[in-house]
Amino acid sequence: MKKEKKELPKEHSKNFLELLIEEDIQAAKHDGRILTRFPPEPNGYLHIGHSKSICINFGLAQKYGGKTNLRFDDTNPVKEDTAYVESIKEDVQWLGFNWDKELYASDYFEQLYIYAVDLIKKGLAYVDHQSAEMIAAQKGTPTQPGINSPYRERTIEENLLLFAQMRDGKFKEGECVLRAKIDMASPNMHFRDPLMYRIKFAHHHRTGDQWCIYPMYDFAHGQSDSIENITHSFCTLEFEVHRPLYNWYIEKLNIFPSTQTEFARLNINYTVMSKRKLLRLVQEKLVSGWDDPRMPTIAALRRRGFTPESIREFCDRVGVARRENIIDFGLLEFCIREHLNKIAQRLMVVLDPLKIIITNFAEPNAIAMPAENNPEDKSTGSRTINFGREIFIEREDFLETPIEGYNRLVLGGISRMKHGFIIKADEVIKDDQGKIVALHCTYYPESKSGSDKSGLKPKAVLHWVNAQEAVPVQVNLYDRLFNAESPDAGDEDFLKHLNPDSLKVMDHALAEPAIMNFTKDQKFQFLRLGYFCFDKDSQPHKPILNRTVTLKDTWTKETN
Ligand code: ATP
Ligand code: MG
Repeated sequence: MKKEKKELPKEHSKNFLELLIEEDIQAAKHDGRILTRFPPEPNGYLHIGHSKSICINFGLAQKYGGKTNLRFDDTNPVKEDTAYVESIKEDVQWLGFNWDKELYASDYFEQLYIYAVDLIKKGLAYVDHQSAEMIAAQKGTPTQPGINSPYRERTIEENLLLFAQMRDGKFKEGECVLRAKIDMASPNMHFRDPLMYRIKFAHHHRTGDQWCIYPMYDFAHGQSDSIENITHSFCTLEFEVHRPLYNWYIEKLNIFPSTQTEFARLNINYTVMSKRKLLRLVQEKLVSGWDDPRMPTIAALRRRGFTPESIREFCDRVGVARRENIIDFGLLEFCIREHLNKIAQRLMVVLDPLKIIITNFAEPNAIAMPAENNPEDKSTGSRTINFGREIFIEREDFLETPIEGYNRLVLGGISRMKHGFIIKADEVIKDDQGKIVALHCTYYPESKSGSDKSGLKPKAVLHWVNAQEAVPVQVNLYDRLFNAESPDAGDEDFLKHLNPDSLKVMDHALAEPAIMNFTKDQKFQFLRLGYFCFDKDSQPHKPILNRTVTLKDTWTKETN
């Protein structure tokens, strides 16, 4: 992916959906009323793709003084669950949006049944007793017309009776279906007598065992929009080919004329976004759950430390278009970095500690050093850090045998300790196995940060923690879940592209004691390491921190 993408200016011109709404308001269509809906199927958690749809549906209504319904599109009893309903509500609210009404397509089952009867009475629907395979075989191809079902010319009376029997459970699953009677030769395949109802003896999460026939998406969605008097039904481009059918049902039923308009789906590289695939990751325990911080779900992003502001900003920058494209994951990271830079508390944490003993530290007590809490927000003030005789630095910030270009600590070399002093490495202390266990150093008392009179010019400024006070913490470092840019493109199973190193747990990390002063929602910048937040399983006696994102973009480099 090209780097320019991340610096895309915000789109200030109006997008085509805004233009459409403004046109409708001007023409006083529906008296200028705007009512949109967000219609998730409660068969999984919402993902970052849904946030685009949420921002469009809620955002546009907000902008033009309208309202938005949250409608659960729960017409398929087999995959749906109340737990998903709850997670969806939580996610929409967390993103910062409020719905006008909470509605369920399943509440319209009786009305939909009445609509179906109406179409039968108009000679526009019939009960077909053929098998699913037979119906599929008769469908034809885009270039070849289909074949009429032998049941197509049943009388209205016969169809009414059979459909009532379907509802009453007189037939087995697969024995018959209700189909619209449109045109088996239509160039639009969706017009070739589409299914309206199928029999399913399945327990529904809301209607229980009340129904054994369930409407198909096409026979439920448009009518649900219409029942709610939705003025603008926005959906993703794959539904464009369904639009003529959406309009056909509304026209033939002579009900409120909602209109459907399509926009491009949000696709992001290095991840998958179909709920079916995300469910597989969860069921096969390849992640710890729907909210595993490596998942692209809203719940996972929240747990990883993303803010609602950053996700809304991301959707805004992605913009609304009618052309499918793939957005670089780096754009989402850019948005969260921008926000966290403004609000994150700065702290020092050492992930892989190496002990430093400062042999000439003769002070009886540690030296208190002031440290700004957030240089981007002076109102947050400063805290005190204690520089003492024993400190820890990052193991990788010292090399016994220097390599070219390495400008951190080496024997005989100097480095500055951030908010501290300059130290010189004198001697390596090793255990029996030859592992370095400590480093003897000397410090320059006149090199105090803020009043440095040493005249020394160390190349590196390192983070550190005081050995006396440091708090043990667990730090989880995340990398992308997949190694391939489009894991689900091609014929191979997308699981083949899982990144085996997507989680690194640092369980001996040490943090500045100030970390104990913050509540669970606090966002942090650990100096030189990135942005972090408390994991939801973090406990006061065992703090767990998740890396939201590194400080700099490590992606562009790798992907170019
Ligand atoms: P998935 O294919 O991931 O299972 P879906 O489209 O089946 O998603 P729904 O619950 O039916 O999920 O979607 C609710 C709304 O969110 C729909 O209007 C759908 O168009 C929209 N949506 C889903 N995925 C995306 C995406 N990647 N980008 C934008 N909108 C999306
Ligand atoms: Mg769907």
